Amino acid sequence: MKHFFNNITKGLSGIVFPRVCVCCGRENTAQQRQLCSFCLNDRFEDANPENERASSDTLLPEGILAQQALWNFDKGGVLQDLMHLLKYERLITLGIDLGRKLGERIRKHPFLNHTLLQGPISILPVPLHYLKYRFRGFNQAFKIALGFQQVWPQIPICDIKSVVRIKNTRTQTGLTLEKRLRNIKDAFSVNNPSMISDHSVVIVDDVFTTGATTFELAQTVLASGARAIIILTVAQA
Ligand SMILES: [Zn+2]
Repeated sequence: MKHFFNNITKGLSGIVFPRVCVCCGRENTAQQRQLCSFCLNDRFEDANPENERASSDTLLPEGILAQQALWNFDKGGVLQDLMHLLKYERLITLGIDLGRKLGERIRKHPFLNHTLLQGPISILPVPLHYLKYRFRGFNQAFKIALGFQQVWPQIPICDIKSVVRIKNTRTQTGLTLEKRLRNIKDAFSVNNPSMISDHSVVIVDDVFTTGATTFELAQTVLASGARAIIILTVAQA
């Protein structure tokens, strides 16, 4: 009987933490991780090997100190698929694993490592509209922020009610830059500026594409008194 229950417990832990890597499908020996150590450490290309202020070619608007993605999208679209999983599958620890990896990478970026040690500072995951949140059940940017905070425990995450998304925008995928900008205009609102006013704000999201979303959020937060913005994402297109 004891043997029977042991087997059930093992089986259940296999469902919560699959024994295969969600990215490559190979056997995953990393305990309680969704990604094998190859996919987490060596599979994708570092988006900013020279540690520049911006990892993409996009010109940063005034008030945005730096923009840093962890990895570049690969030609095969594997990272894109992984980001899709993060958004639409309930892989509870995947976002946290990726956020932790992002946090570890920032530790090795001299400028960002220095800047993030200066307070007051707070982490702001890009908010989801409440209808989307209710449908999805979680905010992937918040999961990434939680993992990030494991490496940077001194930086608090903004309360989810303090900055909200008031416009339920359609997906930005496939839109031209002009349409993206129109789509996202006035999408965010600051309810409680206490964690923003006079703070450096680290905006965290899954993917950086044109910057339309994070730049719009940055504008809103700067207008509420933020000192400076740093944009951090797992991937960049
Ligand atoms: Zn793997």
